[in-house]
Amino acid sequence: MLLISSCLAGLATRYDGQDNYREEFADLLRQGRAVLVCPEQLGGLPTPRPPAEIVGGSGEDVLEGRAKVMTAAGEDVTAAFVRGAEMTLSTARMVGAECAILKESSPSCGGLRIYDGSFSKTKQPGFGVTAALLRRHGIAVYSEENAGELLQLLKQAE
Ligand code: SF4
Repeated sequence: MLLISSCLAGLATRYDGQDNYREEFADLLRQGRAVLVCPEQLGGLPTPRPPAEIVGGSGEDVLEGRAKVMTAAGEDVTAAFVRGAEMTLSTARMVGAECAILKESSPSCGGLRIYDGSFSKTKQPGFGVTAALLRRHGIAVYSEENAGELLQLLKQAE
């Protein structure tokens, strides 16, 4: 079983009430091979919600208490992001997920890069908070940008 970011399968869970639909990921859900998660909703945040970025580091730094997740208006939403990461990890354990395909660049889900905290659309290498927590607990994290090989393997196993 896989975890997939709900927005990649077409649910309008993004901060702006939109989705990031990709047919290949919705197919995995239809085939019963995936469970959807939206860490920010699981953490108690509403949809739509103000955009947020990690300020002062990466998702790993947030888990260590060295960085925060802030909205552009200056609201500290770190606790909700950490709660959402923990809920996502609990979900992975409930369904026995060993890997996750999460939306790139999100402050929760990013697996290769995240926005740099300046709210200037600038990205830097790093994990989002949920991606960092899942990796810490041995769950492999892919994004829509590097899941090609995994999708091929899953197709062969059909
Ligand atoms: Fe998608 Fe993750 Fe953002 Fe939820 S938190 S909308 S799953 S990128």
